[in-house]
Amino acid sequence: EAALRLSGVAKTYNPGSPGEVRVLQGIDLTVNPGEVVALVAPSGAGKSTLLHICGLLDTPDSGTVAIGGQDMTGQPEGRRTAVRRQEVGFVYQFHHLLPEFTAAENVILPQLANGTPRAAAEARAAELLGLVGVAPRARHRPAALSGGEQQRVAFCRAMANAPRLLLADEPTGNLDPETADQVFGALMTLVRTTGMAALIATHNLELAARMDRVLRLNQGKLDP
Ligand code: ADP
Ligand code: ADP
Repeated sequence: EAALRLSGVAKTYNPGSPGEVRVLQGIDLTVNPGEVVALVAPSGAGKSTLLHICGLLDTPDSGTVAIGGQDMTGQPEGRRTAVRRQEVGFVYQFHHLLPEFTAAENVILPQLANGTPRAAAEARAAELLGLVGVAPRARHRPAALSGGEQQRVAFCRAMANAPRLLLADEPTGNLDPETADQVFGALMTLVRTTGMAALIATHNLELAARMDRVLRLNQGKLDP
């Protein structure tokens, strides 16, 4: 069963008006469990729109989006939100960690919100932070961490509730090349250890080449 499957997805902003923008046309894509797929796109190609549709933050005009084999087309917003919370983790270029909480607490809180008992949430946070090498920094607030450490904590937070699918938008875009390399290595460790699927948008062609597959988005279409 695919972690993510899009079929014939199309999206146009402001249809029929002078400001019409045809962003996505006929997008078919599949990401299988355990697969790390790169999404490479020039600016303005529709990358953010595509990631938002994959993460159920936006709806296509036509076509279908299925997460873990569940077709989300036409599902009510409450159901989409529940599936998003349970099945999808997001990472952005900037970490968006809660500044007043420690690294560990940033990974624990989403689990508590999801109903996980505190002891289990703490154990999982410690395990995830250990996997990416920031266990010694667990009691520090984000401001006390380096950029690479902050982003590794952001990955752990995104994976806190064991989502089926990780969506990342330029997760290393704000880091120097060496740190980006380390952070990417940590991400691969997390994904390989948990067996989750990941779709990672990046401008870094070197990192893209190290993923399992590269998808290229050009003018709203995926290159065959
Ligand atoms: P990318 O992330 O690849 O830069 P986006 O998905 O953000 O691309 O945007 C693709 C195109 O759609 C761009 O031309 C952008 O200006 C346009 N666009 C994005 N969001 C909107 C919106 N809400 N209304 C109108 N046009 C939009
Ligand atoms: P980088 O060069 O990788 O961005 P920094 O030079 O910012 O890293 O930090 C080096 C080390 O010092 C890191 O382990 C970081 O967590 C730690 N560190 C940086 N600032 C603080 C701080 N204000 N309090 C505690 N530790 C810090």
